Amino acid sequence: MHNNEEKDIIGPDVVLIGAGIMSATLGMMLKELNPDLKIEVLERLDMAAAESSDAWNNAGTGHSAFCELNYTPEQPDGSIDISKAIRIAESFEISKQFWAYLIKNRIIELPTSFIRNIPHISFVWGHDNVNFLRKRYEAMVQCHLFKGMVYTEDHRELKEWIPLVMNGRDSSEPVAATRMDLGTDVNFGALTRSMFRYLQEENNVITHFTHEVRKLRQVEDGRWRITVKNLKTGEKRKIYSRYVFIGAGGGALPLLEKSDIPEGKGYGGFPVSGQWLRCTNRDVIEQHEAKVYGKAAVGSPPMSVPHLDTRYINGKRELLFGPYAGFSTKFLKKGSFLDLPRSIKAGNLRPMLSAGIRNMDLTRYLIDQVRQTPDERVEALKDYFPNARPEDWELAVAGQRVQIIKKDPDKGGVLEFGTEIVSGANCTLAALLGASPGASTAVSIMLGLLERCFMHRINTDEWQEKLKEMIPSYGQSLSGNPALLDQVRNYTSEVLGLVPAVEKK
Ligand SMILES: Cc1cc2nc3c(=O)[nH]c(=O)nc-3n(C[C@H](O)[C@H](O)[C@H](O)COP(=O)(O)OP(=O)(O)OC[C@H]3O[C@@H](n4cnc5c(N)ncnc54)[C@H](O)[C@@H]3O)c2cc1C
Repeated sequence: MHNNEEKDIIGPDVVLIGAGIMSATLGMMLKELNPDLKIEVLERLDMAAAESSDAWNNAGTGHSAFCELNYTPEQPDGSIDISKAIRIAESFEISKQFWAYLIKNRIIELPTSFIRNIPHISFVWGHDNVNFLRKRYEAMVQCHLFKGMVYTEDHRELKEWIPLVMNGRDSSEPVAATRMDLGTDVNFGALTRSMFRYLQEENNVITHFTHEVRKLRQVEDGRWRITVKNLKTGEKRKIYSRYVFIGAGGGALPLLEKSDIPEGKGYGGFPVSGQWLRCTNRDVIEQHEAKVYGKAAVGSPPMSVPHLDTRYINGKRELLFGPYAGFSTKFLKKGSFLDLPRSIKAGNLRPMLSAGIRNMDLTRYLIDQVRQTPDERVEALKDYFPNARPEDWELAVAGQRVQIIKKDPDKGGVLEFGTEIVSGANCTLAALLGASPGASTAVSIMLGLLERCFMHRINTDEWQEKLKEMIPSYGQSLSGNPALLDQVRNYTSEVLGLVPAVEKK
C-alpha cells in the first residue's frame, strides 16, 4: 500500500494483543484513566482467558510470598533474604486495591466469584528444612506484611491444620509449617473474563476473537501496522495503531521478534509445560482446606515446587497437586510444537545456545518429569499426602510458561524466571515476557508499563488523582508504613469479602 494511503486509514489508539489477564488489566486501567481511548483487542482463541489465565491452567495462588519458599532464599551466611518476598507481597496488595476499586464501582461481578481466603501453609520435613523454615519465619514476622504468620513443629497442631498431609506420617519425623490465614485463592480466569465483559460493553473497545496476529511493522507516520488473520474465515486485514501491547503470554516472544525493534533482539524463550493431579473423590476434597507449598527438590526449577491446593473453580471446591513441570517445545498450551524452533533467530542463537548448555541439568530434569509414570507421580504426591490412592486422582494438563533467555556479556546467555517488559520505538510498542510471579502481580506490572510508556500522561494531575482513586496506596511503600498497610488491607478485605487483616476495635 502507498504511504499516503496508509496515513489516511483511521485505527484505534491502542491495540492489545491477547485476551489474558495482562491485556485485561491494561485495558481496564487505560479506560479508567482515559475513557475516550479507542482500544482493539486481538485474540487467536474464541474466548478470553483460555491460555495461562484460565483457572485450570494456573495454580490460582494469590502470590503474597506467604508460603512460596523460593521467594526467600537462604544466603551463604545462613540468613534468609526476604526482599523478593516483600516486593511480591506489596504487589499483591496493589492488585487487591485495583480489584476492590472495580467491585466498589460495580464494574465487575461479586467478589466471591473470583477471590477467597484459603490459608497459605509452607510445610517441610527433615532437620535442615525445619531449621530453614524456622529462620524464615523469624525473618518474616519482623515485617508488617507478614504479621499474623504462625509457626509450629507440633504434629498434633499440624494434624488439625492439614489432616491429609499429616495422617499416615511417622510421628518421629521432624516437620514444621507456617500458616497465614490471609492467603487467597484467585480464579484469574473469572476475573479476566469479567474485565473483558465490561470492556466489550464500552463503546470504544472492540474485541476480535479467533483473530491471530501474524505481522507487526512500524510505518512511516510512527504507527504500527498489525496484520491479523481471522482464523474462522481465513481473511487477512491490517489494523493501524499508535500503541501496541503484546500481552500474548507464551506467544509474546515470536511477536516481539516480528516487530523488529532493536530492544527485542537477543531474547529467547525456554518453554516449561505443566501437569496436575486432580482429585476426583469429593470426600478427599472436603478434607483439605489450604494451599500447602513445599520446598523444591535440589536441582529442580523454582516453578516446579509442588503444592497441594484447595481451589474454588466455578463455585466448586477442588483439590489439585502439582504442577509437575515438564519440557515441551510449545509456547502456548494451544500452540505448535514448532514454536521453539521457529523462535530461534540469528540474533538470539548465541544466548539460546549458551543458556541451553548452561541449563542442561534443568532440561534433563524437565524431560525426566515428562517421562514420569503414573506410579512415580503418585509417589511424589505421597510426600504431601501419605495415604493418597491413585484411583482418586486424574492427570490434567496445565498452562505453558515461557521463561526468558537473555543476552549476557559474560555468559553469552542466561535463563531468568521473572517477567520483563521490553519496549521500543519510543515506547509505542511493549511486550511482556516471562511468566512469574504472574497474574497476582498484573496490576504492578501494568503500572510499570504506564509509567514507562505513558510518561507524558502519568504525571498529570488528572491521571495521578485517578490512580490514587484506583489504588489508594499508589506511590507509597506499604512495607515501610504499617498503618497504611492495615488501612488498605482492611479496605480491600471488606470490599472483596476476605478476612480482616486487623480486628476493628
Ligand atoms: C502451571 C502454571 C501455574 C501458575 N500459577 C500461578 C499462580 O498460582 N498465581 C499467579 O499469580 N500466576 C500463576 N501463573 C502465571 C499466570 O497464569 C500468568 O502469569 C498469567 O496468566 C499470564 O497472563 P497473560 O495475559 O500474559 O497470558 P495468557 O493468559 O496466556 O494470555 C495470552 C493470550 O494471548 C493469546 N495469543 C497468543 N498469541 C497470539 C497471537 N499471535 N494473536 C492473538 N492472540 C494471541 C493467547 O491465545 C492467550 O489468550 C501460573 C502459570 C502456569 C502456567
